[in-house]
This record gives sequence, C-alpha cells and structure tokens, in this order.
Amino acid sequence: MKTLYLRFVFITIAIILSSGIIAFFLSNIYYQMFLKPVNDEKITQFAKNIATFYEQNPETPIQDYLNNISHLGFQIYLVNKQQEEAFYGESFRNQNLTPQVIQSVLAGNTYHGVAQFPPGLFVTGFFDNELSNTIGVPLTIKGQPHALFVRPDVVKQFGEMRIFFAILVSLMVAISILLILLGTRYIVKPITTLTEATKKIASGNYGIQLNVQRSDEIGKLARHFSKMASSLARLEAMRQEFVSNVSHEIQSPLASIQGFSQTLQSDQQIPPETRQRYLKIIEQESKRISQVSKQLLTLASLDKEERALEKSTFNLAEQIKQAVFMLQWNWQEKDLAIELDLSEIQIHADQKLLHQVWTNLLTNSIKFTESGGTISVVVKPISKKEVQILFKDTGIGIPTEELSSIFDRFYKVDKARKREVSGSGLGLSISKKIIELHGGRIQVESELGRGTSFIIQLPITLL
Ligand code: ADP
Repeated sequence: MKTLYLRFVFITIAIILSSGIIAFFLSNIYYQMFLKPVNDEKITQFAKNIATFYEQNPETPIQDYLNNISHLGFQIYLVNKQQEEAFYGESFRNQNLTPQVIQSVLAGNTYHGVAQFPPGLFVTGFFDNELSNTIGVPLTIKGQPHALFVRPDVVKQFGEMRIFFAILVSLMVAISILLILLGTRYIVKPITTLTEATKKIASGNYGIQLNVQRSDEIGKLARHFSKMASSLARLEAMRQEFVSNVSHEIQSPLASIQGFSQTLQSDQQIPPETRQRYLKIIEQESKRISQVSKQLLTLASLDKEERALEKSTFNLAEQIKQAVFMLQWNWQEKDLAIELDLSEIQIHADQKLLHQVWTNLLTNSIKFTESGGTISVVVKPISKKEVQILFKDTGIGIPTEELSSIFDRFYKVDKARKREVSGSGLGLSISKKIIELHGGRIQVESELGRGTSFIIQLPITLL
C-alpha cells in the first residue's frame, strides 16, 4: 500500500467488514440467549393449536387440514407408531430426527427442537431447515397416537424480506465503499497539497498558497505551515541581506587597500608625506576589516542558543570608569566633557561582554558628538534587583523614524557617512544581544541636533 489514500480506503473497508462480522456474532449470541426460547415458545403454542383444533374437529380430513396449514408457511412432518409418515410443505434439508424423540412425542411429550438446537457460530439456527429443528407435539388421529413436528418455512414466510435485507446490506456496503473512495480523496487532498508545498519550499520557492480557512486539524497544520513558510522567506531575505552587507563591509575597505597599494607601487614620484598618508589609510582600512570580522565572530557566538555567559562578580562603576579611561585619548582629542555619576554596585555578569557594550556606547557618543559637547554616564540602582545605566550625549541625535532600526544589524543612519567616522553598523546589535542575554533591556531616546540617550536596565544578580 504505497499511498495514504489506498491505506485509508483499505483500513476503512476492513473496519466495515470486521464490524459487520463482529455484529453478526453478537446478534447470534443475542438470538441464542434471548430470542431462541421465545421463538420455541411461539412455535410450540402454534403446534399445540394445530393439534387441539384437529382433536376438536376430528371429521376434518387430516391431509387437507395439514396441507392448508403448510400453505400458510409451515413445514410439517407426521408419523405414527408404525413408522407411517407424511410430509407437508417444503421438504426438510436434513431428516435427522432420532427414533427416541419420535417415541417420546408419541408417548405424549412435547419436543422442543428449536430451543435444543445446538448453537452454531455462523448460523443463527433460526434458518436451519432440519427436522431436528422443529417442535413436536402428540396428535391423536382416529384413536391412533401420532407425532406432529412443525417449523416455520423461513423461505415462504420471510422470502421477500430476506431479499430485501440482502439488497439493503449489499447496497449499504457498495455505497459505503464508493463514498469512502470519494471521501478519502477529500481528506487526503490537503495532505498532498502540503507535500507539494514542502517540495516547493525545499527548492527555495516560499510563495505557497494554502487553504488556511479550514478549522480542523488540517487547517491548523496549513496555517502553521504557511507561517513557517513566511518566516523561512523572511529568514532567507535576512540571510541574503546579511551576506550582501558583509561582502560590502569587507569589499569597500579591500578596494581602497588595493587602490592605494597599486598607486604606491606604480608611481615612484609620490612625495613622502602623501605616501605616508596612503600607508595610513591602508592601515586603517585593514583595521576596519579586522574589526568587522571580529564583530561578526562575536555575533555568531552570541547567536548560539547554548552560549553560556562567563559570570563573575565585579564593580560596575569601576568597569565603566575603565572604559572611559581607555577611550580618554578619543574624547580628549575632540574636546568633549565627560560627566560621571556612578553608584558603587557589585553585579554578577559576564565582564568581558559588558565591557564591549560600554565601549561601543561610549565610542558612538564620542563619534557622533561635535567638539565641545558633553557625554554623561549615570549608574544607579532602580530596585534591589535592577540597576539602570544611562549614556547621554549632546551629539547630532537620531531622526525619530530611524530609532526603531538602529539596533538592526548593519544599520547606519547616515549611509553616505565618511568611512573614517562610520563603523560597520554592528555595534548596537551586538550590545542589544549582550544585554538581552543578561536578561536586561536597552532603549534609546533621541532628539535630532540635541543629543541621544541610551538607557539600560540590567539585573544585578544574574540567575
Ligand atoms: P556603527 O558601527 O555604525 O556605530 P552601531 O550599531 O553602533 O554601528 O550604530 C548604528 C547607527 O546608529 C550608527 O551608524 C549611527 O547612525 C546611530 N547611532 C548610534 N549611536 C549614536 C549616537 N550616540 N548618536 C547618534 N547616532 C548614533
């Protein structure tokens, strides 16, 4: 059975057939236990009535009388002591009555062949056309004891009904099979469509159309599937954008390195100070490439879900002071004022990663603040469990519509900015990732031309 369709059809037909067989067995048991005694009782009463009527009207010719009764739908066997026997109505398929039974009925007893008929597994007994499956009653004819055996002629009494039921059952089975064939197609079709869709996705085509209106499990599956396809499509777009950003960030400094080194090689007349400037650019551009690849490595390692933070307890104020000190040359060169208001707080966190965050935020503030500006850093506890760190500058600010994007990878507000000033656009996305790994939040507030604030909330003790 190769397809789900065939499997479904075969299983359903097997269920119908096996339930039919089980139902037959159960109804057979019901007949044996409850219906057989009632049936026996009914036929006994009938046989007794036949005998009583004759004995009250002995002038009736017995052959005519029994013939007439057989025409009403009964099979009759009459026998006397001398073994003179007569049959009325349809003949018995099996004439298996023992002489003891005949003797007993001749002696005046009633024979309950219907109730005593051995229960069979497949036949209810009701239909068994056997002489032993009869009711025997004594009957006196002209002073002679006779034994009268009677059973309903099932063919005569239920002939049409049997055909009716046979047609009913066959039609039921045939129509069920037909409907199963059609219905299964309806059930299996969405699965086939989903399989086609998976094939499309596997070949990189994410624009799939599925019927997501159904409210059943298949509908749910289709909805989840469509969602998965669109997030895969988004992921693929992001991946492509990421790759093109990475190549751009590496390609542009490489192009500039190549250009300047070629000029230096081909033109021997370049004055020493120009040569020095070109070499300086080559050095800066190679630093840039190194910086981008370092940042990409950091991002890749932060993206790994199972990345464990290397936690230790340290003084946060001290760490920020160190970062400010490290960048002293940069802010002093630009003549920037630094204001620090740092509460002494011990935190339990990844020291190396947090150091990267403070350096990145400070570098940005220094980069985007004009000479004479001010950068202030405030550290204060906001509850027993959380500390807030604020980096505020009086720099160029960020347009409101750009604020939601600045944490995206490779995002730079001013795309055309000179490369010496601009970074890779990865710093803030790395910082955000680090803060989130620590269970904290980072927000930005900015006013164009007036300055920018980054507000960070961080748990003091990392669980
Ligand atoms: P970059 O390496 O370019 O600085 P970041 O991810 O650190 O990358 O920052 C993304 C962009 O956000 C920057 O290019 C800049 O446009 C903007 N930005 C970040 N910090 C500031 C700030 N303090 N003042 C103004 N703009 C900022």
